[in-house]
Parts: sequence; structure tokens; C-alpha cells
Amino acid sequence: MFNALVLTQEEKTTRAQIQQLQESDLPDGDVLVEVEASSLNYKDGLAVTGTGKIIRDFPMVPGIDFAGRVIESSDERYKAGDQVILTGWGVGERHWGGMAERARVKADWLVPMPTNCDAQKAMMIGTAGLTAMLCVQALLDGGVKPEDGEVLVTGASGGVGSVAVTLLAQLGYKVVASSGRIEENGKLLRQLGAADLIDRSELEVQSRPLERQRWAGVVDTVGSQVLAHALSQVNYGGTAAICGLAGGHLLPTTVMPFILRNVRLQGVDSVACPYERRIKAWEKALEILPESFYQQACHSIGLGQVADYAHKIVRGQVTGRVIITL
Ligand code: NDP
Repeated sequence: MFNALVLTQEEKTTRAQIQQLQESDLPDGDVLVEVEASSLNYKDGLAVTGTGKIIRDFPMVPGIDFAGRVIESSDERYKAGDQVILTGWGVGERHWGGMAERARVKADWLVPMPTNCDAQKAMMIGTAGLTAMLCVQALLDGGVKPEDGEVLVTGASGGVGSVAVTLLAQLGYKVVASSGRIEENGKLLRQLGAADLIDRSELEVQSRPLERQRWAGVVDTVGSQVLAHALSQVNYGGTAAICGLAGGHLLPTTVMPFILRNVRLQGVDSVACPYERRIKAWEKALEILPESFYQQACHSIGLGQVADYAHKIVRGQVTGRVIITL
């Protein structure tokens, strides 16, 4: 028997309860994993609280990422004892996920644990950190260099945002962190490497199609008006890497930044990111992130606290990365 957080739905209300399950309850898959850690991402918050239609089939074990040790495998790429990481692929949405002491998944969805990493560290990075790394890579691919000017990170106190601030600062960029919680999190954001802070409200106001050029690059986790405003301020030839919708999924912008300033808008998806790119992103994130990031921006909770934290993350009240230790 093992512990799992199980979501059920009654009269359109999602309930989260810790239950004791057996390995025979798990869905089919090639690899059975002893999960050592999962993490709380924005999408987990939506799933656990029943906000948005993340989960369609109940009961469901949430958890879009996990790290742990292989117990048994019918796939030759993995054997008992191997340490593995999983992010994305609809796990925790359509297939039972990481908020349980056991998971059975497809081998294709796993990546081997990098040599300089363990389960806790992997989940301190987690889906959010992998996505932040992919966003930073998109800026590098767009040719954005530290000497080109300031780089804006929106939703900076969140999981993706806090990792993006740290990665960019470590790479020598002058990072401006946009946050709705500067009073609460300004000190942390500066410790992570932000050179400057900007209140989210400055970007939430309606912008003209083209504002004064200000950003060499943008990492956006928020979408909506904040992203529209940021786009109107991107320098000629700059790149905006966008991955999130914490502020809304609409994008009230115009074609002007793209056709008059040659701005590149690069969407970033981590869920179905190809294997080789994932491996490179994990290695690079681990190489760049300093030890201080794990100490300053991450904290651990147990399964019993997930429901409470899920409500907090949906309300934009969680700072940094939350690890679920199993
Ligand atoms: P978090 O909740 O940890 O961070 C989101 C941050 O956005 C908050 O901390 C807050 O930062 C800001 N925010 C929250 N609500 C609002 C609002 N109403 N308006 C403007 N800003 C707001 O979430 P994650 O970091 O886990 O995820 C961030 C986004 O990225 C989510 O939309 C998520 O779905 C998406 N995502 C996408 C992935 C992909 O593969 N494309 C993978 C992972 C995440 P502050 O208080 O500092 O302003």
C-alpha cells in the first residue's frame, strides 16, 4: 500500500483526499517508479482546485512532475534502481501523476537523472524551472545578448519567473523583475539577481501599439495586458519568450511591434518538448543555477498541505518553488 493524493469530482466540485492505494490500482505503463518528490506548479493548482478544465476523468492523481527511483521496468532504457525525472506529457492531467508514492508511466516520458542532481533538486527546478530554461534558451536563440540591454521577467515571484530571473542574472543579463508583490518579494528577487524591480500595475495599463523601446528580451509567464504592454516596449530586433497565462490567456496586442520593430515572439512549451532539447535544458539549468537559488527560492511541503497550497498558487500567493516530499 502507498499514499496518494486522489482527486474526485462530485456535482462539479473537485475534492482532494489522501488515500491508500495498491500498485495494481495504477494505470498501465512500462516503468514503475518510487516517487521521492513532486512539485507544485500553477497547472497543479488549477487541477487540485478544479479551476479550469485541466482534468476530465476522475479519479485522478495530480502532479505534472516527479522524480524518483525505478522499481521495475519492461523498457530496456531503464532498470530497477535508476533515478529518473518526469515532466509534462499530460501526466497529472490525463494519466495519474506525481503526487503519490508510486507512479507507473511510459518510458518515453522519462529522462535519466543528470549526474549532478537528485530527486529533491530536480523538483526544486521541476516543470517551472525547465520551462524557464527553455524561455532563456529562446532568448539566446533569438540572439539577445547581455550587452543589448535590460531583460524583463513577468510574474517574477512565481516558479517560472523566479528561476528565469536567476538563470538570466547568472548569464550576465540585467534583469528587471515585474511583480505584483514587490513589497513582499522584492528582497528575494534582488537576491536572485534582479537588477531592478517594476510594479506589475505599470504594465497592466493600456499601451499604445508602440511605446518607448525598453527591453532587449522578455520572459513572460503572465500573458494578457502585461504581455501586450511589454511587447510594445521590446527593442528593435528583440525577442519575447512566452509560456504562461497567470494573468489571462488573451493577448490584446497589435502587429506593430512585429512588423515595425522586427520583434520575435517565441512560444515555449515544456509538455511535449522533444527529448534531446529536454536533456540539454536540464543539464544547462543545473550548470547555471547557483546553490543559493535552492536555498532561497524553494521550500518543501507534504501531501497533506497540497490542497491549501493549490488555492494559494491559483491566487498568485506562492513565492518561488514548492517541492512536495513523499
Ligand atoms: P506561479 O503561480 O508560481 O507564478 C505565476 C506568477 O504570476 C505569480 O507568482 C505572480 O507573480 C504572477 N501572477 C499571478 N496572478 C496574476 C495575475 N492575475 N495577473 C498578473 N500576474 C499574476 O506559476 P508557475 O510559475 O508555475 O507558472 C507560471 C505560468 O506559466 C502559468 O500560467 C503556467 O500555466 C505557465 N507554465 C507553462 C508551461 C509551458 O510549458 N508552457 C510550463 C510551466 C508553467 P508576481 O506576484 O510576482 O506578480
